Amino acid sequence: MKRSGAGTLGVDDIGRQVKLQGWVHRRRDHGGVTFLNVRDRSGIVQVVVRPEDAPAASDALAPARNEWVIEVEGVVAARAAEAINPKMATGEIEVVASRGSVLSPSAPLPFNVDGEVDASEETRLRYRYLDLRRKDLYRNLVLRHEVTFDVLEYFHQRDFIHVETPILTRSTPEGARDYLVPSRVHKGSFYALPQSPQLFKQICMVAGLERYVQIARCFRDEDLRADRQPEFTQVDVEMSFVDEEDVFELIEGLFVSVFAGRGIEIEQPFPRLTYAEAMARYGSDKPDLRFGLEIQELGGGLAASEFRAFSGALADGGVVRGFRLPGAAGASRKQVDGWGKLARRHGAAGVLTLRRRESETVFQVKNVLGDDELTFLVDALELTPGDLALIAAGPERTVATALGALRVAAAGELELIPKDRWDFLWVTEFPLVEWHEDDERYYAVNHPFTAPDPRDVDRLADDPASVRSRGYDVVLNGLELGGGSIRIHDRAMQQSCFELLGISAAEAEERFGFLLEALQFGAPPHGGIALGLDRIVMLLAGADSLRDVIAFPKTTSATDLMTEAPSRVESGQLEELGVVLAVEPED
Ligand code: ASP
Repeated sequence: MKRSGAGTLGVDDIGRQVKLQGWVHRRRDHGGVTFLNVRDRSGIVQVVVRPEDAPAASDALAPARNEWVIEVEGVVAARAAEAINPKMATGEIEVVASRGSVLSPSAPLPFNVDGEVDASEETRLRYRYLDLRRKDLYRNLVLRHEVTFDVLEYFHQRDFIHVETPILTRSTPEGARDYLVPSRVHKGSFYALPQSPQLFKQICMVAGLERYVQIARCFRDEDLRADRQPEFTQVDVEMSFVDEEDVFELIEGLFVSVFAGRGIEIEQPFPRLTYAEAMARYGSDKPDLRFGLEIQELGGGLAASEFRAFSGALADGGVVRGFRLPGAAGASRKQVDGWGKLARRHGAAGVLTLRRRESETVFQVKNVLGDDELTFLVDALELTPGDLALIAAGPERTVATALGALRVAAAGELELIPKDRWDFLWVTEFPLVEWHEDDERYYAVNHPFTAPDPRDVDRLADDPASVRSRGYDVVLNGLELGGGSIRIHDRAMQQSCFELLGISAAEAEERFGFLLEALQFGAPPHGGIALGLDRIVMLLAGADSLRDVIAFPKTTSATDLMTEAPSRVESGQLEELGVVLAVEPED
């Protein structure tokens, strides 16, 4: 007899002889009769074992406890009216066992796989296969599979070719540390695991593939912040003979179609903000547009203020900015202290409140602002009675990021973020490079292969910090979902950009010789993007953590608690690789 899915049975099957194979989800013994909820990936159905009708089955299944794997044959029967369970998809029926056996026993479980989570994250990761038996995690994996499938289908329909690029490769710097793999054959040499397939996909364009896509695993050895994984998956895309508009249209269409598959309608075209606008208006290069709270420039009316914190900042070339929190005039001392702390954590001197009450406007520091300054602020911030504004002064970048962080935090605290909104946007015109004080050199904001904006190239040598790039990010609800750029396809330009980044001609030759060489053999203009698949699935699943959408995730210290990777290796393995440890292995 063929196996039936436990969750697929219903009233239409009444009278049918069926065979079930699955896990004991729950067991109840009641007046000599045993009720076993049998679970497989399709769902759960109740099996009744009556010793007088099926003595052999009853004996065989007597030891079966939670999570034992059993096989049962029986007839689907309607439940008595009072036994119908409306909470169960199969609650109107049950299977009356005629035969049964244990296929595989289970040791007592380290935690419950049904209902409330009652174990620590560590224990759950150690027994990941048990945690994955939970409905929610299983559903996330199915969602991930379906999204991946839809993504590939979308690109397949548009003539993209899925190409697998190597995992054992030479490093492509994306700003993070590489995972290295020692070579046995070439002792003393190392492969690097790819931080992204960036150069391979560009070289696929030189090869004439024109349209490349890959569900690509990427590896970055970073000190992991709360929700990062050392290996993650990107939807990696590259196209020839395109400009930004082609990439935007393609990717917007992808999101529209993938989200529509989950019943979510998304508006097109996505709004766009330049990096400069995003920083000025939202204090972030990945602004959350689900709520307003736009940051206002306040310097105009405060340059002559007697309040030195404002006029001094402006005189030093800084800014005074703030934003309105509707209805927050009654904010508590504790809340205001919390905002101050957050502002300081982002490098600002602090943040000041301005409260608009029915009869007066109260600035946090008493008697320092004139009436006309208060009126100016009320107008500029559009404060109505009952509102509060948060204001910061200082260097532009610091004020922007501090207010950006406050904007998001306050919106959360005051419950101003609407649910079920999907606010996408493109952020464009990023700076090409950024000066790092600590090692006194420029770094690429995106990566060194991003093309400079042709409107700015004449400043490349003299004022590189003012040059915009042809890079872009796609942002959803304040999260960066991906980024990319139109690339440099001209060898000379690529060389000048390396130079600008302090990479000498010799070093460029050594590290990127293959790219520079490829660029001389008819490299087409090209560009692309990479999207974070894990993040997209996390948002669609409504999950709180990337771990919830990755089958076998690592901890924040980059360990796999199930296999206990990374691990020590045999000394013979090291010898074979020509590797000598300079440190005692850590426990
Ligand atoms: N390789 C880039 C990244 O991983 C994406 C791109 O430029 O296409 O972020």
